[in-house]
This record gives sequence, C-alpha cells and structure tokens, in this order.
Amino acid sequence: MPRTYHLWTIGCQMNAADTRGLAAQLESLGLTPTDRAEAADVLVMNTCVIRQQAEDKILRVLDNWRAFKQRRPELILTVMGCLVGRQAGPALRAQWPFVDVFLPPSDPAALLELLRPHDLDAAARQALRRVAPDADAAPALPPSAQGRTVTAQVPAVLGCSHAYAFCVIPYRRGPERSRPPQDILEEIRRLADQGVREVTLLGQIVDRYGLDLGDGADLAGLLADAAHIAGIWRIRFLTSHPQWVTDRLLDAVARIEKVQPYLEVPLQSGHDGVLAAMRRGYTVRQFRELVARIRQRLPDAGINSDIIVGFPGETEAQFMDTCRLLEELRLDFLHIAPYSPRPETYAARRLPDDVPADEKERRRLLLEDQHRRILTEKHQAYVGRTVRVLVEGRDEKRDRWWGRTPQYKLVYFPATEDLLGQLTDVEIEWAGPFTLVGAAVKPQPKHLTAKA
Ligand code: SAH
Repeated sequence: MPRTYHLWTIGCQMNAADTRGLAAQLESLGLTPTDRAEAADVLVMNTCVIRQQAEDKILRVLDNWRAFKQRRPELILTVMGCLVGRQAGPALRAQWPFVDVFLPPSDPAALLELLRPHDLDAAARQALRRVAPDADAAPALPPSAQGRTVTAQVPAVLGCSHAYAFCVIPYRRGPERSRPPQDILEEIRRLADQGVREVTLLGQIVDRYGLDLGDGADLAGLLADAAHIAGIWRIRFLTSHPQWVTDRLLDAVARIEKVQPYLEVPLQSGHDGVLAAMRRGYTVRQFRELVARIRQRLPDAGINSDIIVGFPGETEAQFMDTCRLLEELRLDFLHIAPYSPRPETYAARRLPDDVPADEKERRRLLLEDQHRRILTEKHQAYVGRTVRVLVEGRDEKRDRWWGRTPQYKLVYFPATEDLLGQLTDVEIEWAGPFTLVGAAVKPQPKHLTAKA
C-alpha cells in the first residue's frame, strides 16, 4: 500500500487549486506528503501547456521521473492536467508508456479509485455512501497544509468555450461549466474552518460565472453569498474577460466590503487589427472605456493584465501601439508572454508564426522595461501611506513577513511576533516596481476587515 505522495505543479491558479484538492483527497486516504520526489510512492505531475516553455519543463521533469520508475516499478507515476486534456489518447500512452495514470484537468477520480482500499466491493461502497453521504468528502485543505495556509483558490467556472485564436485551454479543459453555488460556498466554508482567510474564485472567464446555469446566478450574487461566510475576510476573483465585466459586477466589488478592489483583465494587444486576429471580441477603445469604468467605480482598484507579444503578423508599429496604450493606462501588473503556437488552435493552424523568437524577446523586454518604470513611478505614491496587509507568509532568510494589500501589491515588513493570517497595518517606507517595504503600525484585531 503506497504511503507517501509528491505533487509537482506548474501553470495557472486553476492548477494550484486542482493540486490542493488532490492533496486533500490523497491525505484523506492516509498518504503523507514528501518533498523528495525520488522517494515518493505516488508521484503526480500537474501539467500546463499554455506555452511551449511550460511543456519543455514538463518533459525535463518527466525524464527524471522515468528513472525513478525504472528503479522502483511499484511507484505510481501520474500525469494530470492540460498535457493530458479531457482524455488520454493512445498517442500519449504510447509516448509515455511508463506513466501509470493519466488524469484530465480537475478530475483525479481515476487515481483515487486506484488508491482506495478495495476490500469493499462496489455494492458495499454504494451502501456506505447512502448511510454516510460524506464518506467520500475530503477536507478542503490537506491536513499537512492546515494552520499555515492563509489564502486558497476555489474553482468557480471549469473549462472554457471561447476559443481565442492563440489559446489551447478550451481544447484541454473542455467546455465552460459553472459549479453550482452551493458546492462553491461549501468549499469556502470548509476552507474558512481550516484557517483560510482569503479565497480567490477562479475561472478562465470568471465574469461569465452562472450564465450556463440558467437560473439567474451570476458572479455578483456569488460574491455576495461568499461574503456571508464567517472567517473569510477577503475575496478575489479572476480572470475577468473585458467583455463580461458588467456594472453590476463592479458595483458588487464596490459595495461588498470583503471583495477586494482588484481585477485581472487580459488585454493581450493594444492594436485593433491584432485583437481582431486574436478574436478577442473587443477593441482598444472598449478596453480603454473598461479601465475608465473600473476606475470611476473603484478609484483605488488594482488592475492587472496579460499581453502577448509577437502574435502572427504583429508589426513593429502595432507593437508600439500596445506600448503607447499601456503607457497611457498605467496598469498595476502585466504578465507579458511571447506568442507560442499551440496545437489545435486557430492561430497555429492558419497563421504563420512569423515574428522571429529574438524579435519577440526584444518586444517583451522593451515592454517589461517600460512597465517597470511606470510601476516604480506609480508606487512612490505609497511611500508614507499605511496599507492593510493580510499576512501570508514569512521570508525566513531576511527575517520578515510578507502579505498583500487589497490591490494585490506585495508588501514586506519585519516583525518578531507571529502574524501569519493576521490583518496588519503597514506603513510603507520604500517602494519598488514589484514590492513595497515598510513597518507594522500595530497588529489589528482579527475582526477588522475594512479595506486599507
Ligand atoms: N482566460 C484568459 C487567459 C488565460 S491563459 C483570457 O481570456 O485572456 C493566461 C495567459 O497566458 C493569457 O492571458 C495569455 O496572455 C497567455 N497565453 C495564452 N495562450 C498563449 C500562447 N499561445 N502564447 C503566448 N501566451 C499565451
């Protein structure tokens, strides 16, 4: 009987949430975590294929694991997530014959079935489920993470049905489906009971939450319900597609104290022709209006975004339009990725990947430099200001705590007492492009949830 497990995760927040759920279930079956992959009885790799770079990294780790499997054939080697897609095809199985189990994203059932004690036959298990319907319910956090986990991600919308030209996710995570609100709220309640203080609701297009449920459910309503859960102090959600950010949603963020003034809305490009080629469904003008609308209703909001440089056909002039737009909008954080053709996508099938790799890299660095400069300037306004931070962890090496502001800015500050999971007011003394550094004003009592 396997006794230890090791999970390796790469990719998006949804993967982190899937890994957390799987760890909880493995521990409820009696397994304990180990940091040493080479010694684990169950090895799980939760994979990402959003860009070639992620895939290359997976292949390197998988190569090491192949050697572990050769040495210890009894170990259960599992590959989960977007590399597998909705179903492991024969090609995948032939490519990695040493992998024991392939799991689709968000669906660990096959591994759990394999690990479950089989002394009960199917009928007995069915009967057990009837008398104890929760027999299969694992804790929301793995016991090994309880007491030190302050924030957690909770899937709200699985999959995606909006095939943007570059994006592989719909092909790997399947069609968009919203989880029933009661399941989400129950998971949040359990997380709160286990000490989690902040939850982030997830979806590829989280602002479409509920549209497929057909009963009027939406993200604004879900946020309002989640805010009633005691023990949860902060709520976030991501990723929002620009097209579905309604005034009703923004008003909910403004009105509900626990919902943080923070949005992630990927722009991808600042040129209408490129946006149309990407099939994004909005124009530069609409995105600009969106940012204005957010700032009007939530003057203090943090707005993060994603950019792809070197999309097929992107000219220097089009790229410069992106730079100019971002100079104007002064967003709070950018994730900038060089375009990577992905199998099955429209762009990979129809559009030649005609911007050379070194040119993509040049554009990425240029935009990063610009953005670093904007953030350095913008963050000076924090110096001398006091912000409220939810303390998430400790940087042992430099003997300081870290946490985030409502706008998701990363803050470091020294303190001797244990502040993990506390809301703490920090006066900012130094501000860089990606971090703020300050000193604790005084620890706040736990019940205070007001925004900084
Ligand atoms: N659902 C989000 C995107 C999630 S993927 C949306 O609607 O925009 C996260 C980010 O990865 C994307 O915003 C994009 O910037 C990047 N990305 C996705 N596919 C990519 C590709 N083929 N090449 C480069 N970057 C990509």
